Amino acid sequence: AFQAEVVPKAPEDPLFGLMAAYRKDTFERKVDLGIGAYRDDNAKPWVLPVVKKADDVIRSDPDLNHEYLPIAGLQQFTSASQRLILGTDSSAIKENRITSLQTISGTGAVHLGALFLRKFYKGNSDPNVYFSNPTWANHNQIFTNVHLPIKTYPYFSAETKGLDFEGMISSLESAPEGSIILLHACAHNPTGVDPTQEQWKKIAEVLKARQHFPFFDCAYQGFASGSLNQDAWAVRYFVEQGFELLIAQSYAKNFGLYGERAGCFHFVTSPGSDATDTVTRVASQLAILQRSEISNPPIYGAKIASTVLNDDALFAEWEDNLRTMSGRIIDMRKSLRTKLEELGTPGTWNHITDQIGMFSFTGLTEKQVLKIREDAHVYMTKNGRISMAGINTKNVDYVANAIDKVVR
Ligand code: PMP
Repeated sequence: AFQAEVVPKAPEDPLFGLMAAYRKDTFERKVDLGIGAYRDDNAKPWVLPVVKKADDVIRSDPDLNHEYLPIAGLQQFTSASQRLILGTDSSAIKENRITSLQTISGTGAVHLGALFLRKFYKGNSDPNVYFSNPTWANHNQIFTNVHLPIKTYPYFSAETKGLDFEGMISSLESAPEGSIILLHACAHNPTGVDPTQEQWKKIAEVLKARQHFPFFDCAYQGFASGSLNQDAWAVRYFVEQGFELLIAQSYAKNFGLYGERAGCFHFVTSPGSDATDTVTRVASQLAILQRSEISNPPIYGAKIASTVLNDDALFAEWEDNLRTMSGRIIDMRKSLRTKLEELGTPGTWNHITDQIGMFSFTGLTEKQVLKIREDAHVYMTKNGRISMAGINTKNVDYVANAIDKVVR
């Protein structure tokens, strides 16, 4: 018999627990800074105008049907995704050094990569995957589920609320040769702290010297700075340096397609005469993994993204929509920092504007996080991370005052 009594009760997912508590709260001025999804200035979800247009285009097609996609997904979508992340003039694309599969959003792409590495990675006889400390909590679960052992490298400095670059580099230098290194392409979650371009160059140098294998998780391209190219800089730099690497790409945030699960996984190999052969073999194995996991990916979100990515006018409009989202978030960073500085809130607050993307690591302690929830009904994760998307012109004063109160 199965003996279900041996299945222990798992702890509640902290983020979903937080959301449930927020929903139950009847206080009128409550503020949700936990959510990892964009909200407009009225704290409402925002359907991108360009997504509405693409939706109209898709629905007006008289041949629209609900057939299966191929195992690797919608081809126009995966090839446009390659151009988006690597750049239209990428040598890796021209030289057919890349193979890509449509996935269940970014999570599915990370999972497919983890599964692939578990089965085939031979760069080290006993490989570990190294995560930044901290990282997106789901990384731990995804890699643990496929039995790849996890280690961490220092990343966030509690003191400066910026990057612990020296700690990161020395840890990458001392990791066993041929380790797998997971990197956030831009807008690091949860800290909002990214390396500078000079720092990325040094990271690449160390990874190359130690023959480490990079795996880029890219969940915020265009959403972070407002520029698709700028947010893809690190990935493109590594590819230019000739690395063989993996990329997990999500369209949840930058298209607002959260629930549609549109994402892409890429394997890029190094330049060389055997590159095409490598890509062919890898693609054949990825297809088997994909087939056994999901058979074939969902169609709707990929069609939306593909419609926009493959049309110059819609693409330009998308870039405009991206600037609306990233611009609002950058404005809220400025506002929150200014209010805290005006209030004379103890501590320094430059990190609020130095950090980038959806999240900010405020530096509030767990005790302060619980107190601000109880006293002011402002909800954030226990590590002091706030979603900047939860802040708007109507609640920024309230939030700043609440932070001021718990910090004093
Ligand atoms: N990686 C990181 C770092 C993320 O923050 C997210 C979104 N929270 C994802 C991957 C994947 O999200 P999704 O599966 O919704 O694309």
